[in-house]
Amino acid sequence: VPELPEVETIRRQLEPEVAGRTIVGVEVLDERWTRPLPPAAVEDAVAGRRIEAVERRGKYLVLRLDGGWALAMHLRMTGNLLLRGPEGGPEGHVADLMEVDRLGAPRLYESSAQLRHLRARLDLDDGSELLFTDARRFGHAVALRGPEIDAYFASRLGLEPLGEELTAEALCRIAAGRTAPLKSFLLNQTGIAGIGNIYADEALFRAGLHPLSPAGSMRMEHCEALREAIVDALEVALLMGGSSIDDYRDARGERGTMQDEFLVHTREGEDCPRCGQVIRRIVVGGRSTYFCPGCQTRLRRRPRPRAKGARR
Ligand SMILES: [Zn+2]
Repeated sequence: VPELPEVETIRRQLEPEVAGRTIVGVEVLDERWTRPLPPAAVEDAVAGRRIEAVERRGKYLVLRLDGGWALAMHLRMTGNLLLRGPEGGPEGHVADLMEVDRLGAPRLYESSAQLRHLRARLDLDDGSELLFTDARRFGHAVALRGPEIDAYFASRLGLEPLGEELTAEALCRIAAGRTAPLKSFLLNQTGIAGIGNIYADEALFRAGLHPLSPAGSMRMEHCEALREAIVDALEVALLMGGSSIDDYRDARGERGTMQDEFLVHTREGEDCPRCGQVIRRIVVGGRSTYFCPGCQTRLRRRPRPRAKGARR
């Protein structure tokens, strides 16, 4: 399931290839992709527009378009966004021809079973195509305009973990008073955006915090450790091109390699790389959760702090 590092990997691949291109055609092949709106709502909003930038918010990939429009796409469980380069192009466009090889485009069409699951296609003015494939069909897209864009994300997403806004203080502030387990707290996109099941486990291990600790039990030193652990877990994953434990492929149709580097996630029964105890799997909020009982501290629930001035 794509999380921040996977979506950001796609963004970094797409931005130099598609920014500045115009979307000359849009075909939505699955009405579920745009619902509750009909496919025409997205097709009409996006067709003919120039892509100004490729951005990411949480796990959303966002094409910023001219006229104040944006196309926000979410890969959910099994979505992939593939870039197929121009097949030939006019003579003399040698750079375009080389791009085909570099992006591995012919392979995408010849052997990829994913194209059976093609849900939408954006045709670009250089002959390349953006293909949204999705086996389970939970992925979706929405066209937004002007102030709708910020409002859409503000109601769904909290702090960006790789921006300057995620400080230890901010983390402690959003965790204060929360009794939810840390694992669930990290999965809640309205607190911190972009973290899913994999990187929640990896971050909690790096921070030495037990996934069942109540989020509001963290003291400042724990918030500092967790903030650093989140950033480290995500940045290592970015270096590895994300994780491909199931359907995830990058914009070139290739797998990430982070799954080979997991410290605890999916490592049930293996030795902890830090203390040697056996890594366990439990279920938290319906999600498989991997942790080391030896070196991840279970914090106790704290009484609510008294009113300011009452302490010391
Ligand atoms: Zn350990």
